[in-house]
Formats: sequence, structure tokens, C-alpha cells
Amino acid sequence: MDILFASSEAHPLIKTGGLADVSGSLPRTLKNSRQEVRLIMPAYPQAIAAAGALQCVAELTLPVARTPVRILLGRLPNSRVRLYLVDAPEYFDRPGGPYGEPGGTDWPDNAARFALFARAVCELAMDRAGLNWRPDLVHCNDWQTGLVPALLASEAQRPATLFTIHNLSYQGLFDRAEVAGLGLPDSWWSMHELEFHGRISYLKGGLVFADWLSTVSPTYAKEIRSAEFGCGLHGLLTHRRDRLTGILNGVDYRDWNPGRDRLIPFTYTARTLRLKQENKIALQNAFELPSRPDIPVFGHVGRLVEQKGLGLILDLIPELLQRPMQLVILGTGQPELEQALRAAHTAHRSKIGVRIAYDEGLAHLVEAGSDTFLMPSLFEPCGLNQLYSLRYGTPPIVRRTGGLADSVVDANGPNLYAQTATGFVFNEPEPDQLLHAIDRALNLYAQQRVWKDLVQTGMQQDFSWEQSAKVYVDLYQQILDLRIREAGMRRTASNPF
Ligand code: ADP
Repeated sequence: MDILFASSEAHPLIKTGGLADVSGSLPRTLKNSRQEVRLIMPAYPQAIAAAGALQCVAELTLPVARTPVRILLGRLPNSRVRLYLVDAPEYFDRPGGPYGEPGGTDWPDNAARFALFARAVCELAMDRAGLNWRPDLVHCNDWQTGLVPALLASEAQRPATLFTIHNLSYQGLFDRAEVAGLGLPDSWWSMHELEFHGRISYLKGGLVFADWLSTVSPTYAKEIRSAEFGCGLHGLLTHRRDRLTGILNGVDYRDWNPGRDRLIPFTYTARTLRLKQENKIALQNAFELPSRPDIPVFGHVGRLVEQKGLGLILDLIPELLQRPMQLVILGTGQPELEQALRAAHTAHRSKIGVRIAYDEGLAHLVEAGSDTFLMPSLFEPCGLNQLYSLRYGTPPIVRRTGGLADSVVDANGPNLYAQTATGFVFNEPEPDQLLHAIDRALNLYAQQRVWKDLVQTGMQQDFSWEQSAKVYVDLYQQILDLRIREAGMRRTASNPF
């Protein structure tokens, strides 16, 4: 199959979260399974710098661009995947992140930036860029690519489209004034198309128009059809439930393997767990905590946003201070959460280590050096850190939601007895429920033999991309078959004889 994979970020070119991990590793795994998959992304300066050799292979004249848009061809690093970078300097060549200014505020012209990106993706998808290649299917990811299925829907001979929801709460919502002049069809301003409470939703473009929808875990695929998790879109998602699949993300064990990780001081395996203790000392040093091998370290890495349940952790700080434990948190995000964490660190330096930063190396050290990983997310489409934690022998403490529910097995009596337990799972996002899970972890940690079993069972779990990539290939095929059947039905309907 020929697949065009459209994403706004991909590791190691540029990353703000899990979408980049998926877009960096799924295309690579698909390519290794002999699918012709090509990745298309905006040409951010970081991506150009990280991509290495690039050549201009096409120039496109697009309605929203003042100058021709260049298509740069290269390779996704460490892979055989062809990479197309959409080079429109007026939109993408700026300091800061892919979606916002260095300070974090969204770019004021995001509506235009991702409309332009979508139009470029469609030109390639329709083989109108002179590249002599036509994908069978375009795999779109999150709101930044939501206009792609919507634009392609009006093309007569178009590729099939799959739209993957990595996080329903980011919707790409824009006012009328922001999209005026972008040449978007008037018909989209209808609640049956892209309109959402008086604004336009790029995400809805994908949800309404893609041939098929997927999301990144089976449980999240169910949850988003409910009012609690559906962000106002549960009606639409329920309507499309026959074409909504949940596929758990995989892990790139080339990057996340404690036995070969170049970003941690001491590599280790399930047989050399004493070396994990050395990483723990390094972690305590890095966060200026007392070196105490006997005291369990609870780690957390992530975007500091409400979704990740940081409010629960902050509420519990007085309780946690009374327990024999240390807490380390690495992240960046909402200023008020950053501020609250900084304050907790300043007040309790011997127990709470905080680093407000985006630091790849330190993220690996937190996974390797912590004894257990806190992930009390209010909702979690898939979550990757709990999967990394399992491989690093750092049993995660998670809420039973989304991909967390699909990947962590609770250390209750029967599961411990059956040696299937891998972490601690609680149900409701309430501080006392999280505290109870933390206390269960502390209790088990005190029984080192049982703890070791838990750690080793987690380390043996296989969440590699190979498994999930096979499911994606089957889904792609299913979508193509469906398109053929539907085209046949349309022909028969228009010419019944
Ligand atoms: P989300 O996509 O919601 O951010 P995921 O758990 O799916 O959450 O993926 C987050 C990814 O981003 C992980 O690879 C995690 O290690 C990384 N990450 C998040 N914050 C930081 C940070 N401050 N420093 C380094 N890596 C981070």
C-alpha cells in the first residue's frame, strides 16, 4: 500500500508530546513491514535542522500563500521513510514551538498555517505536485490535519482517508474572522460539517469527513462516545461508532530500552536491577535530593496541564510529606501549575524535586531512577510514559482511563498471585483514591520480593510497534476495501442496468 502520513510533529524532528513519538515510529515500522509510507510535515526550522540533507522537489501555488510553497524531500532520521517538508517560511520559519510563541501563547495565524499545510497535503495526495506518486490512503493525525479529509471529500478520484484522534480536547477552534480570506467553503459553516458552537473546528473536519476514524487506545475509543469524555463531540462520535477503531500506541524500544539507553548513566536489565539503584542515586543528585537508596522515589514527567492530574498530586502534598518517599517532577506547561510545583519544591527541598524544563535526557533518567511512576491523568488517550515505565522497571500508578486502563494491570491480590500485576490502578480522580494507590505501592515496596516480581512482570510486557503496526495495516486494507465497495454501490445506483 502507498500511504501518506500527515502530522504536525515527529520525533526526532520536533516534539511537544506523544503525537511526535507516534509519528516518528509508526511510519518507520510500517516501512519496515514493506508498506510504502511517506511522512509529510511543516518545515519548522527545528525540523529542517534535524532532517539533514534535503532537496526541493516541487513548488506549489496555494491560495493562502503569498509566495510559492516548496516541498523539500529528505528522510526521517534513522529510517528509510521519505519525508516531505512543506516549506512556507512566512508561516513556519519562526522561533518557538510548532503551535505557539516561545512564551507559549498560540500563534495568532494558526488557522492559516494549518489550512495551508492541509492544502499542501491534498496537492500531494492528488498527485498534483509533480512527484508522480499517488497514495492509496492519507493517514491524518489530530486537528492540525483535520482539513485534509474535508478538502479531499470534494475530489472525484481521491485516496481513502483515516483520521486518528490523539487527543480530542485539542480541537483547532477558530473564529470566523480568523478563517476569513482562507478560501474555505461556506458550506462548512453548518453544524453537520465543521461548525462547532459558532466557530470552525478543524478537528471536526476529520471527524465528519474521514472515511474512518481511529484513536490511540480501545478504552478511549469507547470513552469519547460519552458526555464525560466527548468534549461536546460524543454525539458525532456515537453516530460514527461503526467506523471508529481504538489501536493502542506502541513503544519504540530502540529509544526506550534500559539495556541500551545512552541517555542514562547505568544501563540495566531485569537481571541487573541493582544498577537501577545507581540511576536512582544519579536522579536524586540531579534533583538535589538526599541520596537515600532505601527511600522510594515517585517520578512524573509530562506536560503540566490539568489533564495529567497534577491537581491531585498537589492536593496530596501535605499527606505525601508524612510518608517515607521522595517526589520528582519534570515538565513544562500551565504557568499556575509550574508556579505551584516550584513553591512545593522551595518549601520541601529534601522531599520534592522539581525541574520546569523540557529535557529528553532527564526524562529518561526519571524513568530509570524512579521506583514508581505517577500518572493520575483525568483522561489519557493512550499515554506513553506508563509504557516506558513498565519497560524501565518502574511500576506506574495510574487512573483507570483510556490507554492507562488498557496497559496497566493492578497489583491486587489475585493479579499478584497470578504474576500478571504490573502497577497500581485507581478508579476515580479523587485525591483519597490516588493516596490509597500510593499507600499500596509503599506497602508493596516494603516487601522487596513481591516488589521485584511486580517490576519484572512489567519489564517483560511487549508494547512494541510491530504489534500495533500490523493492526494499522489491516485497518488500512479494510478502509480501501470499503472504498471499493462503496464506489461499486455508487456505480450500481447511478446505472442500475
Ligand atoms: P501527551 O501526548 O499527552 O503529552 P504522552 O504520555 O502520550 O502524553 O507523551 C508524552 C511524551 O512527551 C513522552 O515521550 C514524554 O517523555 C515526553 N515529555 C513530556 N514532557 C516532557 C519534558 N518536560 N521533558 C522531556 N520529555 C517530555
